[in-house]
Amino acid sequence: MTDNIKLLVVDDEERFLQTLTKRLSMRGFDVTPVNRGADAVKVADQQSFDLALVDLKMPGMSGEEVLEAIKEKHPDMEVVILTGHGSIDSAVECTKLGSYTYLQKPCETEELLQVLKDAYHKRVQRKLQLNEDKVNEMLNLAQGESALGILRKLRDLEKNKEK
Ligand SMILES: [Mg+2]
Repeated sequence: MTDNIKLLVVDDEERFLQTLTKRLSMRGFDVTPVNRGADAVKVADQQSFDLALVDLKMPGMSGEEVLEAIKEKHPDMEVVILTGHGSIDSAVECTKLGSYTYLQKPCETEELLQVLKDAYHKRVQRKLQLNEDKVNEMLNLAQGESALGILRKLRDLEKNKEK
């Protein structure tokens, strides 16, 4: 089930980043590794990702700042924070800012995989819910209307969205 899950991994430690990328790619994730926060934000704007795994402590743009920037523009993307020893408080803060959860480094591959799968599941569920809401909205709209009436309502809705 991890095939084609698009994952952005951000960490300033080059070796750790490489190891993680290799491990997660082997498990079927479509991994894009970057080692600077600013690059992560740029790449997230250019391509679409399901998930991001973000190191908290990085020179330049911090993991917290990356989280905020990503969540602002791509609220659907689930973000998992990686934190070293001693930064748990900041990691907890990140969950208040919208991260899915955090993991302490070094983390076990199995635990990481489970967390990423759960985060992906949450994203899928949320998308389904959005679709369901849309369908319900349509059904409400359609109640008691002729086909032509429905089309008119839809047209008006679209016009209002354009404003
Ligand atoms: Mg770091």
